[in-house]
Amino acid sequence: MALSKSLLKLTLLSFSTFVFSQETNLNNIKKLTFGGDNAEAYFSPDSKKLTMQVTNPEIGAHCDQIYLLDLNHQYLGTKDLRLISTGNGRTTCSFFMPDGKHILYASTHEANKECPPKPAPRADGKYLWPIYAEFDIYVADLNGKIVKKLTDSPGYDAEAVVSPDGKYIVFTSTRSGDLELWRMDIDGKNLKQLTFGLGYDGGAFFSHDSKKLVFRSSRPTSEKDIREYKELLAENLVAPTNMEIYTMNIDGTDLKQVTHLGKANWSPYFHPSDKKILFSSNHHSTRGYDFQIYSIDVDGKNLRQITYESEFNAFPMFSPDGKKLVFSSNRNGDKPHETNVFIADWIDTDAHEIVSGNNLKKTVTYLASDDLQGRLTGSQGAEKAADFISKEFKKLYLKPLSGKDYDQNFDYSVKLNPHEENSSVNVKGKNVIGFLDNKAEKTIIIGAHYDHLGLNEHHNSTLMNSAGQIHNGADDNASGVAAVLELARMFSQNKAKEKANYIFALFAGEEDGLMGSKFMAENLPKNQKFKAMINLDMIGRLNHDKDLTIGGIGTSPIFGEMVKRYKPAGFNLAIDSSGVGPSDHTSFYLKDIPVLFFFTGTHSDYHKPSDDSEKINFDAMTTITGYVFNLANAISETGEIPFTKTKMSQSKAVPKYKVSLGVMPSYADTKDGLHIDGVTDNRPAANAGIKAGDILTKIGTCEVKEVYSYMECLSKINSGEELPVTVLREGKEMTMMVKF
Ligand SMILES: [Zn+2]
Repeated sequence: MALSKSLLKLTLLSFSTFVFSQETNLNNIKKLTFGGDNAEAYFSPDSKKLTMQVTNPEIGAHCDQIYLLDLNHQYLGTKDLRLISTGNGRTTCSFFMPDGKHILYASTHEANKECPPKPAPRADGKYLWPIYAEFDIYVADLNGKIVKKLTDSPGYDAEAVVSPDGKYIVFTSTRSGDLELWRMDIDGKNLKQLTFGLGYDGGAFFSHDSKKLVFRSSRPTSEKDIREYKELLAENLVAPTNMEIYTMNIDGTDLKQVTHLGKANWSPYFHPSDKKILFSSNHHSTRGYDFQIYSIDVDGKNLRQITYESEFNAFPMFSPDGKKLVFSSNRNGDKPHETNVFIADWIDTDAHEIVSGNNLKKTVTYLASDDLQGRLTGSQGAEKAADFISKEFKKLYLKPLSGKDYDQNFDYSVKLNPHEENSSVNVKGKNVIGFLDNKAEKTIIIGAHYDHLGLNEHHNSTLMNSAGQIHNGADDNASGVAAVLELARMFSQNKAKEKANYIFALFAGEEDGLMGSKFMAENLPKNQKFKAMINLDMIGRLNHDKDLTIGGIGTSPIFGEMVKRYKPAGFNLAIDSSGVGPSDHTSFYLKDIPVLFFFTGTHSDYHKPSDDSEKINFDAMTTITGYVFNLANAISETGEIPFTKTKMSQSKAVPKYKVSLGVMPSYADTKDGLHIDGVTDNRPAANAGIKAGDILTKIGTCEVKEVYSYMECLSKINSGEELPVTVLREGKEMTMMVKF
């Protein structure tokens, strides 16, 4: 009973104190429509009204019609939607005229009153958009009366928008034989073709200064893609699965491709500064359908995720006064897959809170350069790394944790030959620790080890005969150090004063057995309370499937929900609940501090001289650093981070074993076998042909489910024994003989 009561308390606590939203640019989000398909909502020039495209049988909208919504009403809902298209045919892409008393939109009603059919599903399963040739562009007043027809050519004319200065209309048309952007004066005169490349140029919007256009385009380049595009277009169809964002001047000059992300990048809109663009994208998606809104600088830099909720977010548009954003989303639907229009107050991101991929790259490249000789604890190379870190802390005006500098000195001994009694050497290590004092009651520690294997003096390399070769340790762990330094910059330079203090701790002695973090954990300042410790060790090699391992989830009951809430789109989290793991967070977990451990997995360069900067995935590191920033903010905002012990520490002692396989197990929580992340050369597993990526399921007759049963199985084997070992490779079972 006592246990369940306390659990209940913890659950309530985690919900009531969790206020920090992961969508930091969107405040006060309100749902404006309730049911059906509602999209492409655009503001009137005075920001007080919206027009949008609605399909909702409950209000009689069976086939995409244009509705008006007056934002001055107090409680907005579907009842407030007013039909302003004819109710016949299909309509799309409405936009206010400069007077705010008329709109334009495209409609098929003149050709046929009925709803034009959607393309029939195809045998090849391709997702296609129809390009109805019957679409023409009309101007109507706000009572729905059509006052003018702007286009009267055969073929598709739609997607019309008006420049903020009221001079021009830009629209998409097939009149040239291809889907191109065209411009006309506001009165319909002076037609001018703006784009000429083969492909679907469309969905254009003006910048706020009326000088630029942003649009999305599919521009097929390979012969096969060109043929397919032309064949589909001849049937009035397009495949909207490959589009990128472009900008150009309003006369069609200075065409620039902004995104190079792949997949579908579309519905762009200029940020009020005209220096950034918001757009919808599924480029991140490794599994299925998932569109999120992103922002990107007009020069293609600083890609940032804006929305996190639900699997469809698109059509962002700013109010002309720049204060509000409307968008369409599947979030908070009453039924699955319905799309509603939402409005939110737009909050610009503090520029200091944007992760700089450039900073990350500079730090990793320096720390992993040959000049630092692999940063063996106690070496000159490690001293250079420590100096570099201290200088960064000084630039940020961080305080020392105690004493007058950032250094925390300790020493330990390393046995160079396990079989020789007198082979120990004494090693002098140095942690570098900076303190951001927010005068808060509690403190969050963010740490990473900066040491590595040097020239393999301590025999921790996985490459045979690698003594004397520089082990640069770009992933292990220049990557983690770079992220911690960047987080230190963000937290110390931003305008916000967080509700926690931050300690940024860069450890030495990790490769020799978590020596630096142990020393720090033993000597934590008595006058501070610690909310959590976040450890970044090897975050530079996110794989194609975007599998990010997060350890320590079980060390606080609120971590599970928290890491999912902030998860970057497209990432797959491998959750490990244990507070004990192969890195420095373990030292703090053992002091009853909740811990989180971030790790992109081992690889074939693990602990080898080939762990170099060129192999680092800096885009992914940028995303992970932003993720940790959001989590560290959420932890500081959360009143209480309760600590819980995890199974590893409560379980019986790890069995002793006389043999080893020479594999690096994944620490992810799986039950289908031991996932092998890496294989050490010239050891039993490698000799038998076991490879990284294999899933070990059986040793002899002993079944392997995860790392614990693996250890159990190993403990029963004697040196010299030869046993069949079963692995799953790409889903197929294979058995090989292993000599232990
Ligand atoms: Zn290591």
